[in-house]
Amino acid sequence: MTIEKIGVIGAGQMGNGIAHVMALAGYEVLLTDINQQALDQALETIRRNLARQVGRGLVPEADMEDALGRIGSTLKLTDLGATDLVIEAATERESVKQAIFEDLQPHLRPHTILTSNTSSISITRLASRTDRPERFMGFHFMNPVPVMQLVELIRGIATDEETYRACLGVVERLGKTAASAEDFPGFIVNRILMPMINEAVYTLYEGVGNVKSIDQSMKLGANHPMGPLELADFIGLDTCLAIMNVLHDGLADTKYRPCPLLTKYVEAGWLGRKTGRGFYDYRGDEPVPTR
Ligand code: NAD
Repeated sequence: MTIEKIGVIGAGQMGNGIAHVMALAGYEVLLTDINQQALDQALETIRRNLARQVGRGLVPEADMEDALGRIGSTLKLTDLGATDLVIEAATERESVKQAIFEDLQPHLRPHTILTSNTSSISITRLASRTDRPERFMGFHFMNPVPVMQLVELIRGIATDEETYRACLGVVERLGKTAASAEDFPGFIVNRILMPMINEAVYTLYEGVGNVKSIDQSMKLGANHPMGPLELADFIGLDTCLAIMNVLHDGLADTKYRPCPLLTKYVEAGWLGRKTGRGFYDYRGDEPVPTR
């Protein structure tokens, strides 16, 4: 199965990163969103991020223009029917993703592989509602996509070997490393990372440490490049809470109970970097702990 043309659905922070790395690796990319502004912003972000890579000597200047020339954009989802591989990276809501696959399905070529970048929704369930569960899988990039080395490849119960091999080939062409995961809540990275972040929030909630001492302890005591609370702010506290809820519901074990303090920050709209405030306040020159 040769993959040359890749469709990316959703031009948010993940979608633009996916389009960026795919185009740089030589794939033709067609990016779609429901929002023209999101598409315009994504293309601008890709240009800026590529320019940064050129500036650091990671990418030759000529490759930047070639890559940009390989990215097309459209508001019409059905234009993606002519691609070999579709990576869905739209908003993390099951109804949104399901509607996308339903609308796209009648326009797809028979061999097209469908994938989702979902962090938490069951691949098997998404696949079962399409006409091609054997050619459906999870293609889970990490944020920021151009920087992070890992891609989790998640097989649904029906995913066939040829589909897995084709996706593995794409990851290898990107120069990234694939980790193969089974389709259970949180896959591998979030299954391990989110309970650690949640435990850091409990540690704060119970007054064992404050924001600074908790982050410093994990950076200097466990050699983590970022503290867990700093990392939670980077990911988005709403995302962390949503993933904890998926682990709690999907695995039915109280050890995944989201910390009430995490819920409180989300209720306050203190979602981390993206809203200017989370476990740190980012509105000044330097981040200031909020506890
Ligand atoms: P985002 O909010 O930045 O972007 C989502 C984009 O999807 C928006 O531009 C929105 O307009 C678009 N969209 C919504 N409905 C659409 C539709 N029907 N058709 C086309 N586009 C539509 O979100 P994100 O952080 O880029 O996350 C996207 C996906 O990637 C989610 O499934 C998320 O779980 C997953 N993911 C996120 C991260 C992360 O750290 N943010 C990491 C790994 C995976």
